[in-house]
Amino acid sequence: MISAGMIRVIVAAGKKYKKCCFPKEERRPDKDGVDEDPIVDDWGYELFGARFPEIAEKETRSITVMDGGRFGLPDGIYVFHEMFCREHGCDCRRVFFYVTSAPRHNVDAVVCYGWESADFYKKWYKDDDADMITEMKGPALNLGSPQSNHAPAILELVKNVLIKDKDYMERVKRHYNMFKADVDKRS
Ligand SMILES: [Zn+2]
Repeated sequence: MISAGMIRVIVAAGKKYKKCCFPKEERRPDKDGVDEDPIVDDWGYELFGARFPEIAEKETRSITVMDGGRFGLPDGIYVFHEMFCREHGCDCRRVFFYVTSAPRHNVDAVVCYGWESADFYKKWYKDDDADMITEMKGPALNLGSPQSNHAPAILELVKNVLIKDKDYMERVKRHYNMFKADVDKRS
């Protein structure tokens, strides 16, 4: 489990995260992934553990890498903190894995993943730009987020291990629904 201090750091870095909810806000990134609207008052994503710390402590997934050569990663425990969009009424169905590793505790990667079909995101973003939909659906390294040089190997870990675990993905969806219900309740 990460500390409250670390959460504050993540929140402070939050403006680097791309808004996911273009259709409602008419807010689109330009070709460099930079937000065209310079006034970004709210950055959109929040740790599941910020709202449900006890559940996050029990249910946040980690992967222990002991034969790092196999994944191209240093040995250690890689923790996949879930972040979701906190916009009221937004049903974007994506998770952001904020990946840290122990014993180093650096930000190793931020991986986005949408578990629905490509068609779902085409409709949601009202866009059939194949590259953009591929990036939205992921799994992909999130543009604009801090990424270490281990990030590409962590992305492979997400693709080959994490999201192939059906029970785990059901857990992520449950967390998403809890988080969204809490957002709607408080707004
Ligand atoms: Zn959203």
